[in-house]
Amino acid sequence: MSKRSISSTCSFCGKPRADVQILIAGFNAHICDSCVEQAHLIVREELKSQKGKADFTDSQLLKPVEIKAHLDEYVIGQDAAKRMLSVAVYNHYKRIMQPESKKFADVEIEKSNLIIVGETGTGKTLLARTIARILHVPFAIVDATVLTEAGYVGEDVESILSKLLQAADFDVKAAERGIIFIDELDKIARKSDNPSITRDVSGEGVQQALLKLLEGTIVNVPPQGGRKHPEQKMIQVDTTNILFIAGGAFDGIERKIGSRLKANMLGYGAKKDFGKIDKNNLLQYISPADLKAFGLIPEIVGRLPIVTYLEPLDEIALRRILIEPKNALIKQYAKLFDMDDIQLEFQDSAIDFVVEKAMISKIGARGLRSIMEAIMTDAMFEFPSDKSMKKLKIDKKYAESKCRKNNLTDQKVA
Ligand code: ADP
Repeated sequence: MSKRSISSTCSFCGKPRADVQILIAGFNAHICDSCVEQAHLIVREELKSQKGKADFTDSQLLKPVEIKAHLDEYVIGQDAAKRMLSVAVYNHYKRIMQPESKKFADVEIEKSNLIIVGETGTGKTLLARTIARILHVPFAIVDATVLTEAGYVGEDVESILSKLLQAADFDVKAAERGIIFIDELDKIARKSDNPSITRDVSGEGVQQALLKLLEGTIVNVPPQGGRKHPEQKMIQVDTTNILFIAGGAFDGIERKIGSRLKANMLGYGAKKDFGKIDKNNLLQYISPADLKAFGLIPEIVGRLPIVTYLEPLDEIALRRILIEPKNALIKQYAKLFDMDDIQLEFQDSAIDFVVEKAMISKIGARGLRSIMEAIMTDAMFEFPSDKSMKKLKIDKKYAESKCRKNNLTDQKVA
């Protein structure tokens, strides 16, 4: 316990008790309020500058199996993607902290940027966000559709880094080891596989601009994002060690995968039997060649060397998503009601109803939230003021009536 001392001086700055506001007594020493504040600032600055290094010491670097186990707590299913992501991230951070190795002195480990292909609402963003959380690194999401080449209306590609800097609280060192998730990469694909037939400059231009960032370069970043203008002060960010994860639905890529597989099988020396291919889930056979065929320029494909896919979510997966993850939607509502001392019970029939409705909307797990809101809003509005309310049971009838009341009709959204 600290005690105030009346007749002493600060052992740090030497000011007498009368000249300071608070003097804290310790064992054989005193410290005044302004020295405490200064010391606090020094500690904060020091910790901030060490943070980047401290995050990736050998002992703290999680192994792929551990990374996947963490992902399992938040993301349902998607095993193939989780395994690839865990390995990619592990190798990426090993690469960043690679010790001097005599045996492999000439070997340079390349970056393991990756691309996740999967329908909307199947967990692309969630995977990337969860990885960043596990690793305690800054994370930013950008939408490729708002990016344009410098000089066009829209956001410069550099604005991606402004977002990461903001997420890192302008700690450049931390940002330089962060993760950027580029969503909707498929939307900047060239419309044609063959550049000589259709020149879709806008998409290709953005891809070219992105390429620089993916490769690793030093970029002058406008701290507040938006467009660059001459009087703005820039911050230099090196993208060499930033991990890029791209995502996209790549609608129709199954056709490209299918025709490639067919061609491979018909070709001379073909080993595989086309009959053995699971035609209902062609995405599992995705390869960089298919991304190229879809309209990504070869250089971009080369810089996103790890390609993985997400499975479409079936009823079982949606059901699990509602209840199982650490921050599952039903757990979140239960917590909200618990704060008002109301116990929430969501019956199986109601859960089935929500899942059914989400399946119809065809937007993966994305649909679950709005359906749940439609069901829960009235209760969240009324019951906190109702002192007699101790338990809320949601069954199918209740869920149905609230959806009807809130005009939540069964519609395919996508
Ligand atoms: P997208 O694939 O379009 O990036 P998101 O990752 O943004 O999809 O997911 C949309 C919503 O659905 C989020 O709230 C997320 O928590 C939930 N979700 C999607 N897929 C899963 C999954 N496999 N496990 C748990 N939650 C999921």
